[in-house]
Amino acid sequence: MKFCSNCGSTVQLRVPAGDTLLRHTCVSCGSIHYENPKIVVGAIPEWEDRILLCRRAIDPRHGYWTLPAGFMENSETTAQAAARETLEEACARIEVGDMFTLINVPHISQVHIVYRARLLDLDFRPGEESLEVALFSEDEIPWDDIAFRTISLSLRRFFEDRRRGTFRFHEEDITAPPPDTI
Ligand code: ZN
Repeated sequence: MKFCSNCGSTVQLRVPAGDTLLRHTCVSCGSIHYENPKIVVGAIPEWEDRILLCRRAIDPRHGYWTLPAGFMENSETTAQAAARETLEEACARIEVGDMFTLINVPHISQVHIVYRARLLDLDFRPGEESLEVALFSEDEIPWDDIAFRTISLSLRRFFEDRRRGTFRFHEEDITAPPPDTI
């Protein structure tokens, strides 16, 4: 950040009074521009024993498979974000179910939330950000071509729980950052 979004003057990194961290602070109007983690929300759309995955048409991880997921927007709930992302990326309608995973990814300052969901019909197709959209049974999941570690972790937990016959909520942390992965 170089300029104040309030008055357009330059900003400097300073520790505000009573704070402990460096913040972008406007030299003119004094506005403090806090930066906080971003929330990514996705869904595991289920149809009988299969789940819906999208192949990414955008970077990062172009060509790799993922669950429908994306950054939460202002003024929406996490469940609404899951439904919106599924509609945008797979043109698919879902009924959002229970929150299934919450994964902290502190090295990139993100929190990823994945819901279980029921796919309402088979009328889906790739949205703008997807190359293809398809249903996969567990033994068809392209494990080596999953775009992000939070997605493969959520999928692993999903199939583990399904085999066990009970779904529970999983809070996880992904900390070690191999290069180019999320
Ligand atoms: Zn300012």
